[in-house]
Amino acid sequence: MPGPILQVALPSPLRRLFDYRSPAGVRAEDLCIGQRVRVPFGQRQMVGVIAGISDTTEVPAAKLKPAQELIDLQPLLPESLWQLILWTASYYQHGLGDTLGCALPTLLRQGEPAIARQDLLWQLLPGAYPEHPAVSRATKQKQAVQVLAKHPHGLSHALISQWGLTRDALEALERKGLAQRIHQSPHHTAEPLPLLSDIPLKANAEQQAALEAIAGKSGFTAWLLDGVTGSGKTEVYLQAIERCLVAGRQALVLIPEIGLTPQTMERFQKRFSIPVVILHSGLNDRERLDAWVAARDGEAGIIIGTRSAIFTPLARPGLIIVDEEHDLSFKQQEGLRYNARDLAVYRAHLEDTPIILGSATPSLESLHNVRRGRYQHLRLTERAGNAKPPGFRCIDIRSRKLEAGLCRPMIEAIGEHLKQGNQVLVFINRRGFAPTLMCHDCGWIAECTRCDARMTVHQNPPRLHCHHCDTQRPQEHECPKCLSKDLRQLGAGTERTEEHLAQRFPDFPVLRIDRESMARKEAMQGMLKRIQSGAPCLLVGTQMLAKGHHFPDVTLVAILDADGGLFSADFRGPERMSQLITQVAGRAGRADKPGQVLIQTHMAEHPLLINLTEQGYGAIADMELDARGRAGLPPFSFIALLRAEANNANVANEFLESACTLAENLSDQLGLAVDMLGPVPSPMERRAGRYRAQLLVQAKQRSTLHQLLHHWLPQLESHPLGRKVRWSIDVDPLDM
Ligand code: ADP
Ligand code: ZN
Ligand code: ZN
Repeated sequence: MPGPILQVALPSPLRRLFDYRSPAGVRAEDLCIGQRVRVPFGQRQMVGVIAGISDTTEVPAAKLKPAQELIDLQPLLPESLWQLILWTASYYQHGLGDTLGCALPTLLRQGEPAIARQDLLWQLLPGAYPEHPAVSRATKQKQAVQVLAKHPHGLSHALISQWGLTRDALEALERKGLAQRIHQSPHHTAEPLPLLSDIPLKANAEQQAALEAIAGKSGFTAWLLDGVTGSGKTEVYLQAIERCLVAGRQALVLIPEIGLTPQTMERFQKRFSIPVVILHSGLNDRERLDAWVAARDGEAGIIIGTRSAIFTPLARPGLIIVDEEHDLSFKQQEGLRYNARDLAVYRAHLEDTPIILGSATPSLESLHNVRRGRYQHLRLTERAGNAKPPGFRCIDIRSRKLEAGLCRPMIEAIGEHLKQGNQVLVFINRRGFAPTLMCHDCGWIAECTRCDARMTVHQNPPRLHCHHCDTQRPQEHECPKCLSKDLRQLGAGTERTEEHLAQRFPDFPVLRIDRESMARKEAMQGMLKRIQSGAPCLLVGTQMLAKGHHFPDVTLVAILDADGGLFSADFRGPERMSQLITQVAGRAGRADKPGQVLIQTHMAEHPLLINLTEQGYGAIADMELDARGRAGLPPFSFIALLRAEANNANVANEFLESACTLAENLSDQLGLAVDMLGPVPSPMERRAGRYRAQLLVQAKQRSTLHQLLHHWLPQLESHPLGRKVRWSIDVDPLDM
C-alpha cells in the first residue's frame, strides 16, 4: 500500500494543488486537512498546507515525491477560518496556495511553529508605583510601571510593544527590584480582571437603542450602523465590545488605516484594561505571529487591524466591527483582490456572530442590503453631546479670480474664523505644488514618458513627479518644443495652497497633511498634538484629513474643488464625491462650537451638489441607488473585470478579444445570461510603460457570473497568449 496522497496548496499563482506522498514515518491517522507540510518543489523546499487527502493520484508513482516533514500536529486554523479561506479562493478566483499566502503571517508561511515565542510575563513587585524615586525620572520605566500596574496577573511579553513598552525598560525595572518575569503555560487563565479601565460614556437614546437592538439578537445578524459624523459610533462599538467580552468572547475590529487615526486607537486602549492587540504595520514578523497566536488561543480579547486582519483566527469569536465600511482601502487592489468588508460579513455568518458595519456615508452596496432586508439598519441621526451639524454653502467660482486655488470670499471667511480663535481645515485633493507645467508660448505640457499623464510640479524638493508610476525628473527651464523660457505652473496642489496661506496669514501656523508630509511615522502624531492644543491654525490637506479624525476646534471646512466627481467617467463617481465631501465636512463643529462648510464649485446648479448640501448624504444615496437600479448597474448586477497589460497594446487587446470569444462560447454552451463589455482601453491606457486594456463581464445573478468564471478561468490559464500579457481577474471591482 502506498499510503495516502496529500493534495497540497503551495504558494504559487497556479489555481491547482500538488500531490505528495506522506512524509516518512508519519502514520495516516496523524494526517488531516489544514496541517502544514514541508515539501520538495523543483530544486527548492516549500511550505504548503494539506487541502485534501486521497487514495489516488494521476501523478505516476515514479514521479510522486514524499513530503519532507509534517509541521503541525493539529490543523493550523480553526475550521471556520479554513472555510473562509476556501471560500475566498473560490469567490475571487484565486489559487488556494496564494490565498493562504495572503492570509497567514510570514513566519507561518516559512514553517515556524504556530506557538507564541515564550510564555513570559512581566509583573510588578510589591512596593513599585509610578512615582517611586527609582523611576520618577526615567520616563520609559515610569510608563512601564503604570502599564504593569494595570496587569496584576502579569503582562505577556508578546504584547509589550502594543502598550508602547520596551524590553530595556522592563529589564531596568527588574534590576531595580521593581518588576519580575514569570513563566507560565500559554493556556493559563488568570482570575478575571475588571474589564474596563475607564468609565463608559452614558449612551444617549439613539446609542442606547442601537446597543439594545444588537444585544437583543443572538447569532449572526449584519447591522448597518448609519450614524452621521460625530454621532458617537465609536462609543457604540466600545460598549458592544464590552458586552462581547463580558460574555467571554473576542471582538475583531477592522479599520481603514491605523497610522492615520491614533486617537481612535487610544480610545480603545484607554477604555479596556485587557490588552488590545493592534496589528499595525510597525510590527515585525515575530510580533505579528505572537499577536496571531494570542488571538487564535483566545488570550487576546480585542484585535484591531486593517483589511488583512480579517484572516486573524479567533478561539471564541463574538463580534466583528468594520468601521468606515464604505472605505475603499478594504478592497485589495492587486494579487488576491478581496474585499475585507464583504469577507467580514461572510465570516460573521460562518461563525454565527453579529457584525456591525459602521459609517456616516454607507456604501450603496450596504444600503441596498438594508433595502432587501439582509442588513438591519441602525441610525444615529444626531451628533453626540452638544455638537450640531455643520451648515453648508456653495461658492460659485465661475469667472472669479483664484489665488492658489482660493477665491476672495473663501479667504475672507478663513480670516474671520482664525480671528475668532478657531481652526480652519482647507481640503484640496491634490498633492504637490501645481498639477501642470505648461509653456505659455506654444502650449507644450510636461508629461510622463511612461504614462498617459501629466507630471505634477513639486517644490520640496523641486522636481516633476508622476503620481501614477513615481517617475521623477528635474523641471525643465525652457520648453523642449519652442525653447521659450516662459514655463508656467498652472493650478494648485497642497504645497502651493500651504505656501499661499502662510503668506496670507503669517500670524497662524499652517499644517500640511498629505502623503508626503506624513511620510515620517511621528509626523501625524506631532501634528495631531498641535491640533489638539486648540490654538488657532490652518490645516491644509488631502483626503487623509477626511478619515475619522476628531478635531473639536475646527469651525470652518473649506473645500476648494468639488467638481471632480460631478463629471467622473466611473459610475461610482457621484457616490465617492458625496462620501468625501460629507466626511471632510464632518470634521467641522464636532464639539461645542458650530461648524461651517464652504464649497467652491463651477457647477453650483448641479442637482447632486444641491441635494447633498441641502438634504445630506442619505438623500443622495437613495437617488443614486434608484439610478443604479434603472441602469442595471451594481449592486443590481454583478461584475468581474478581466484586465490585461503588455508592452504592446495589440497583444493585450488580442488576448482580451480571444477571452471574450471564449466567454461567449461558454455562456452559449451553459445557457448563462452574461453580458460582455469591451475589450476597451483602461482609463489610463499607458501606465509605467505598459499598455492596459480591460473586459467587463456582467450578470444579473451572482451565481451566473460565478458559473461562468468557474469555467472560464481555467481556459484563460492555459491560453497561449496568456503568457505574453500580465492578466488578472477582479471580482466585484471598485476601480474601473
Ligand atoms: P463617530 O465615531 O460617530 O464620528 P465619536 O464616537 O468619535 O463619533 O463621537 C464624537 C464625540 O462625541 C466624541 O468626542 C465622543 O467622546 C462624544 N460622545 C460620543 N457619545 C457620547 C455620549 N453618549 N455622551 C457624550 N459625548 C459623547
Ligand atoms: Zn513652448
Ligand atoms: Zn508615470
